[in-house]
Amino acid sequence: MPSQEEQPQLVKIAEGLYVRQEVDNIGWADMGEGILVVDALEQVHLEDEVMAMMEDSVPGKKVDTVLNTHTHYDHVALNKAFEKKHGAKIVNLQTTDVPEKGLVIAGAGRTCRFIPMPGCHTREDCIAWFAEDRTLFVGDLFGWGLITSMTSATRDVMTGLESVYNRLIDFGAETVVPGHGPLCSNAELVRCRAYYDWLAGEVYNAFDAGKKLPDIITDIPVPDDMNDWWRLCDWKHEQNIRKLFKGARRHRT
Ligand SMILES: [Zn+2]
Repeated sequence: MPSQEEQPQLVKIAEGLYVRQEVDNIGWADMGEGILVVDALEQVHLEDEVMAMMEDSVPGKKVDTVLNTHTHYDHVALNKAFEKKHGAKIVNLQTTDVPEKGLVIAGAGRTCRFIPMPGCHTREDCIAWFAEDRTLFVGDLFGWGLITSMTSATRDVMTGLESVYNRLIDFGAETVVPGHGPLCSNAELVRCRAYYDWLAGEVYNAFDAGKKLPDIITDIPVPDDMNDWWRLCDWKHEQNIRKLFKGARRHRT
């Protein structure tokens, strides 16, 4: 049985701005003429359910654009369905030249800026910023504490991650929509940046002191105030330590 938090929930962020929140999240915004979708899930069989939710929440409008924060399989599954049923345009860094300062998608009631933000998870990550709604879709750049780089977490990786977080935090978002799990706010981004910095210091120092990985894992628990972060205690914190340990090893070679 999936736990309560893994049951899909429709979250209304603002009038015409919704997220179907589950393990994988999909968002949609009523832009006036049509609907703008952010990310397109992992499972094609969710097509009917998701389309019905959209029709209920924003009736009588078609999806004209789908933004993918990046093209990992768990963010693109419904692209084809939106293309086929609605004639939607698929926008991500594989399909579209997105300028560094972002692509502006303007509707009658709201605007979205789609901005490349590479160097933290993949080279093609983008974020979607809805200024009127103070809402930031960050894809997999924020994973409730997970170090989302695909490689070992060297100092360079952690510095790159910090500079991405500095940029994200500068938006001052009221609502932050991660690619997976519950929604949050700017405060969690700030806490996460500090957690990364602290954890990297702890693991690198322990490595330099000659400690072994299993001991480091036991010695560094999740900070008390982050115990309820989505899946952090289950596996993410330990995986972070492993990634940082590998990073520390690479500093030596
Ligand atoms: Zn991803």
